[in-house]
Amino acid sequence: MHLVTGGAGFIGSHLVDALVSAGLKVRVFDNFSSGREEFLEHHKGTGMVDIHRGDLLDIGAISSAMKGVEMVHHLAANPDIRLGTEVTDTDLKQGTLATYNVLEAMRKEGVPAISFASSSAIYGEADQMPTPETYGPVMPISLYGASKLGSEALITAWAGTFGANAWIHRFANIVGPRGTHGVIFDFIHKLKADPSRLEVLGNGMQEKSYMSAEDCVGAMMHLIGYCELNVSLYNLGTGDTCSVRRIAEIVVEESGLEGVSIEYTGGDRGWAGDVPKTSLEVGRLLGTGFEPNMASEEAIRHTARALISEIGL
Ligand code: NAD
Repeated sequence: MHLVTGGAGFIGSHLVDALVSAGLKVRVFDNFSSGREEFLEHHKGTGMVDIHRGDLLDIGAISSAMKGVEMVHHLAANPDIRLGTEVTDTDLKQGTLATYNVLEAMRKEGVPAISFASSSAIYGEADQMPTPETYGPVMPISLYGASKLGSEALITAWAGTFGANAWIHRFANIVGPRGTHGVIFDFIHKLKADPSRLEVLGNGMQEKSYMSAEDCVGAMMHLIGYCELNVSLYNLGTGDTCSVRRIAEIVVEESGLEGVSIEYTGGDRGWAGDVPKTSLEVGRLLGTGFEPNMASEEAIRHTARALISEIGL
């Protein structure tokens, strides 16, 4: 039995699909704060997925969900980086503390392996691009990035002290069907509200690596099968980047709307804590034999199409 925290969420539900396709039984632990039941609807009645509705801040609830589990995929977290500019303890609680509770519940129940959804946000404004896993010292500039780095440290400490195996995946920006947040999702909602104009936060020159959710969970599954180290650390991305300006153009193209005026609010970043340029070195991932199916632009177009049909315009 594999436990997926945040398994009703965007990436989590894709991971549940991939685990079930590999013939594995899955338990989802989710408080449905941003997760949705409909993302798991297709598993109903199959006997492959059981759902535990609970909060990771309740250590009793997560401990009882650990029974009979051989591996934890820890994806639950606050996904909204921007929220940290207004509420300063969300990432500490939903990120770092929640990770502590997962690790402690694993230790008590004797669960030997954890795979963790970390983020390129831990690198902050790195002066080496593309940024390799060996880059340091890492200095996040968002509260979200700090919570991911804190979680990574707890995981390696638990692995070192109690012997669990760990896979830490530092994700690029992940996009795809079922997305419930992020730049493409925001653009589609803005166009839905006003089809004549699209406001872009910042000057549009922000440039990041994007990876499809399908490739992301494919890479996670591949690495779990491939690595034998006590702690495995990988950047998960496509090796290229795409600008926010190009994303806006792609979303407008895919919307089929005519005469949309794309307007920029200015400044080098969307909000305080936003890293204007990220580029992940993914040689370590590719060296294991994993090949993403989509480059950044393809993943963005694929996502724009899927979300336009999910959200409607
Ligand atoms: P998401 O919001 O769709 O998924 C998070 C899930 O966790 C949701 O189902 C939510 O209901 C659940 N959850 C949140 N707090 C919880 C709690 N206290 N107890 C139980 N469940 C809780 O977001 P996502 O984009 O699928 O992100 C999944 C993971 O990947 C997160 O850890 C996120 O930080 C990480 N990540 C995402 C991206 C990205 O681009 N989407 C990039 C880097 C890292």
